[in-house]
Amino acid sequence: MPNEALVKVRGVTQRFHSGRKEFIAVRDVNLTVNEGEFVVLLGPSGCGKSTLLRIVTGLQKPSEGTVLYRGEPVVGVNPQATIVFQTFALFPWLTVQQNVEVALKARGIAPEDRGHRAIELIDRVGLDGFETAYPRELSGGMRQKVGFARAMAVEPELLCLDEPFSALDVLSAESLRSELLELWASGDIPTKAILMVTHNIEEAVFMSDRIVVMDKNPGRVVSDVVVDMLHPRRRKSAKFANIVDKVYATLAGQTQPEHVEIGSEPGGPGGARALPDIEIGDLTGVLERIHEMPGRNADIFRLAEELHADSDSLLRLTDAAELLGFATLAEGDIALTPLGETFAEARILARKEIFASRIRRLPLFQWLLRMLDAADNSLLERDVTLAALELDFPPEEAQRQLDLIIEWGRYAEILSYDDSSELLQPELATASPSSSDNE
Ligand code: ADP
Ligand code: MG
Repeated sequence: MPNEALVKVRGVTQRFHSGRKEFIAVRDVNLTVNEGEFVVLLGPSGCGKSTLLRIVTGLQKPSEGTVLYRGEPVVGVNPQATIVFQTFALFPWLTVQQNVEVALKARGIAPEDRGHRAIELIDRVGLDGFETAYPRELSGGMRQKVGFARAMAVEPELLCLDEPFSALDVLSAESLRSELLELWASGDIPTKAILMVTHNIEEAVFMSDRIVVMDKNPGRVVSDVVVDMLHPRRRKSAKFANIVDKVYATLAGQTQPEHVEIGSEPGGPGGARALPDIEIGDLTGVLERIHEMPGRNADIFRLAEELHADSDSLLRLTDAAELLGFATLAEGDIALTPLGETFAEARILARKEIFASRIRRLPLFQWLLRMLDAADNSLLERDVTLAALELDFPPEEAQRQLDLIIEWGRYAEILSYDDSSELLQPELATASPSSSDNE
């Protein structure tokens, strides 16, 4: 069933009115979901992902444009589509099993078949033993699993998911992701396409065939990244990292050509670009502050006043934000990129992951990680590293750079440093694969 379009969104714009003001939630969106495809909508909060999902399923009529389903305009709610929300509403007076059976009944499944099919689905989502529990007795994560079981019971042709894993704990999220992928790959369900909203980049690359990247103000599609990897995907593989990087780059935008912006390795042709001398806590503080401002945009001079920072240290912070792709600078203003917004909104683990992925692309870190890789027992002495840095930096600056590398690398959990033995070492990968959930 290759490439037959199931959904076509054409020129969709959604306006909302509050009083006399008009607000454009999404503008001129074109999007196609083909049969057999698992497509993700990815972007910062407020870029119109949920709005678009509601429009696709016919829950909302767009101000302009059309949605075609199998070539026919969608009028009213599309019966072939089912949506799973971030938090799923269950009937409080029904048990877990009854909540799932409701969906089977709606599909016209005979009463004698409903019981065992509901139990099978409940088992699949990992709620074995909770068939007779009531929603109020379940945790939020467990309720979400019931929601999943119910959506699967509907066996929709188009399954729409709105941040379905973001309210779950890390382990439940990971097991549900796998369950969903397995069901999808098995062909046991009649679902022909999945359209999932997330703002978790790794989740998008882990699960989907194609990532539609959105930006906001106004909400719009900015690019499309194909994930041409077979399942099951390994998060540690080079290809996975490559695609994650590609998505980051799309979200980060670029003010200057990459090689100018990030410099080269110590001893290399263009020389290493020095890391700005900043504290990471100050950087996150500034990003959070800009995030609260209208338009995620601030005048640098006013920002300095407000934060009681001297302009030198603020400029170092904005420099770092730009180097990491979290912000762009123009005409005295600093504006967050979608990646910067994602970072500002994320929790600590997700932040560390984003930060790690960003610094891994800096030649200074790539160079150091390669040296560590080549070193005996992956250990490097401070003095050896320092001597290498002194090829590019005066001695005092080399010291400062090394301290910054250590601080950034520790925060990102890609480096560890023992202050007493003065040895550098790569941090062993311990971070959970799904720790980039946020909210
Ligand atoms: P996302 O899911 O990407 O976080 P949403 O689609 O929920 O974004 O919202 C996009 C923008 O539209 C937001 O600024 C939101 O406040 C606004 N919006 C969404 N629904 C409505 C509504 N019914 N009335 C007014 N504004 C809305
Ligand atoms: Mg949303």
